[in-house]
Amino acid sequence: MKDEMLKKRAVDFLERYGCERLLGIGFGNISFDGLLSKTGYKDNSDGFFEELKEKLLKRKTGESDAISIGNVNIPHLFLMEILDEIMSGEELITIHDVSQLESVTNVVVRDKEKMQEVLDTYPVRFSKHIVRQMRLSKDVAFQYMPSVDELDPEGLTNTWVGQFHKGLLERMYQNRPIFVLNMACPVYCRFCFRKHKECRNQSAPTIKDVEDAVGYIAAHPEIKEVVLTGGDVFMNKATLMAAIDRLKGIPHIQTLRIATRNIAYYPDMFYKDDGFWMEYLKTEGRKLRDLGKRIEIATHFIHHDEISIKSLDLISDFVRGGIAVYVQTPFLKDCNEDPSVLIRLYGLLRSAGAEVHYIYIPCSAIQGNKAYWTPLSKGVETAKGLRDGLTDRAMPRICVATPIGKVDMNTSGWAVEQDGKRIWMRTSFTADYLKAFAEDFDMTDCRVNEEGTLDYRHLVPEGIGDKRLLFGKRKKTAKITTSADKVTLDRLRDACLFDQRDNFSISKTDISGLSRKHKTRVELDVGCEDLYDAMAYLREDRDITDVILSAKDGVVSVLDKVCSIVQMLRPIDHIVAIRLRELNLNYDPAIFTEDVIAVISGLQDLSIVRPLRMEVETQFLHETEFLDAHSRLADCFRRKGITVYANSQLLSGVNNGAEDMQKISYRCREKDIEFHHLYVCGMSLQDKWNEDKKIIADSVLDIATYLRRYGSGREIPRIIIRSQLGESDFNLTSRFIRTYEGIMLEGESLLFTKLAFDGDFLCGDL
Ligand code: SF4
Repeated sequence: MKDEMLKKRAVDFLERYGCERLLGIGFGNISFDGLLSKTGYKDNSDGFFEELKEKLLKRKTGESDAISIGNVNIPHLFLMEILDEIMSGEELITIHDVSQLESVTNVVVRDKEKMQEVLDTYPVRFSKHIVRQMRLSKDVAFQYMPSVDELDPEGLTNTWVGQFHKGLLERMYQNRPIFVLNMACPVYCRFCFRKHKECRNQSAPTIKDVEDAVGYIAAHPEIKEVVLTGGDVFMNKATLMAAIDRLKGIPHIQTLRIATRNIAYYPDMFYKDDGFWMEYLKTEGRKLRDLGKRIEIATHFIHHDEISIKSLDLISDFVRGGIAVYVQTPFLKDCNEDPSVLIRLYGLLRSAGAEVHYIYIPCSAIQGNKAYWTPLSKGVETAKGLRDGLTDRAMPRICVATPIGKVDMNTSGWAVEQDGKRIWMRTSFTADYLKAFAEDFDMTDCRVNEEGTLDYRHLVPEGIGDKRLLFGKRKKTAKITTSADKVTLDRLRDACLFDQRDNFSISKTDISGLSRKHKTRVELDVGCEDLYDAMAYLREDRDITDVILSAKDGVVSVLDKVCSIVQMLRPIDHIVAIRLRELNLNYDPAIFTEDVIAVISGLQDLSIVRPLRMEVETQFLHETEFLDAHSRLADCFRRKGITVYANSQLLSGVNNGAEDMQKISYRCREKDIEFHHLYVCGMSLQDKWNEDKKIIADSVLDIATYLRRYGSGREIPRIIIRSQLGESDFNLTSRFIRTYEGIMLEGESLLFTKLAFDGDFLCGDL
């Protein structure tokens, strides 16, 4: 036996990870012997490895065709395991010249002179992990492999550093600064907005620099969150540890968000030195939790080929250790525009325990990034595909990052008009808001619109694409004020608790107690009398990933039954998340005793092969409903790796003012509860409540504006319209159109009568 070690790795890998979720259709429960037979090498592992090694070693970085043996396409993750053995190593490789690039990537560079110019202009560094992934995936190579196209002069030459820039701090928002701890990265992404050498060559900060920045933060009580970023913060141990140590002592700081791409491109950062960083973060995370604060990890993933066993393992490990991991995705032309790419990516990340946060559209218009640019509408098109095919809990916020702040596409801002290669983007921010922390705020490329917020002339070289996304100017609207008294809130509470189940269904299941909410999601009444049929239905439909369990009086009242249903669902391998609806988490948090929390967390399994993620769903309708007990509860669940998320619904006179909703979103964030959906219409309680005093559709834009201006990006909910077609994102994956019969939701056959419309802004002229 020539390849004893390879065979051992292959056998072990398939024993542990041989499942369809990870390896694809046809590779469920496959053993190494099974793979040999399938590929025509029965009892001949030497022959199998000889052919496989030859193909892998000949392979050039960025090739796109599948590697197949005996007409069988070998799964990506299995190939990574084999490459780990035959191209082993975990070091970082800085590329200085073309011949080194050619030798590391097995690629012959055609225009060597120009490529050398690229290498001299923009730094290139790979991890060995990325060198292996680039051999197998053109979509990974596209992100890291230098290209002569980077010499194209189109685009911005300077990286934007925020309205306020002092020492290590950049600040674009009142409640959070960016704390830039280090400019170097272990690996350099070609689409990086800090790719220019002036950024990379900045000298490493000192502890004194860190202390100066911490002093500024301590003197500004409006700052609640700090984003620790770079470059990569883990490249500079002393400054990261000093920053965490000092920041945790500041009373008004609630959350430290640590940005890193290591999970995707250099997972060994967290395994090396006996897992130093992993242990350090988990220990510090616990200390912060004891102080009522928290650490979150922000990471980037772009394509499902970046997923590795190590990356899934790291995410699960962080989440089990009480550290939430959230994912952001730059939107790259010819890489992740196809919704199916992101559906697979987010599906795997969610089942490991991650939250999906943003897609940034389009990729930054910095010089050298042209290959990645798309028109703005391409991102909206992809969002529609995601809403159709992805579970709602993994649906990202679609956001445009302008230099004066983020725009949640078509809600907190929108494209107003095209101006050459620039688009006037309406933002949520005002000059006064920005001047509150950036006295010298510069109005270049800004204008004040009729509503009083700023439009920004944003460079989008590929333009708008679909011109229907140019919404134009909007008039100032009247502020909505509300006055919900205790009697009203008690009435609403009683109505919600009368029956916590929701029998809305987009299609018939023919099973009483089982309703279909989405292609990927059902709700199952714990009291369902046809459980046998319900399980058969769930087993047969492999699109279903999420099951919400509900009960008339809440799931805690029937916890034994919940446990037995979870055990019935566990063997159904396409179901990866079970969501327990309990509205009493809001109204009577004491029912969540230590025993109840232990039982629910005991049901969760964040394993890589057969994950079953547990989440708790609740609802808040008003700021006064939040109690200290909710912080305790969310913290107990988070320490066990379980997310508590809340929905809300707009109710006229109760919470439909922008300030009301911002207070709810702030409280959710403060208490570590994910604010998931804000329903604009379609929930039965709200449709009845709002019947005589309809929600004005345009006012939703004011709510979104206010949330974006004063909240953390992590607290902004997805704003949802529920209709007979299911759920869609307000004005993003849905669109209003005016017809002779009235206003309709595009694609709906019924007239849309649940909202009031104030003017033509959202639906245009007839
Ligand atoms: S990890 Fe982030 S900062 Fe570093 S190169 Fe990639 S995009 Fe740029």
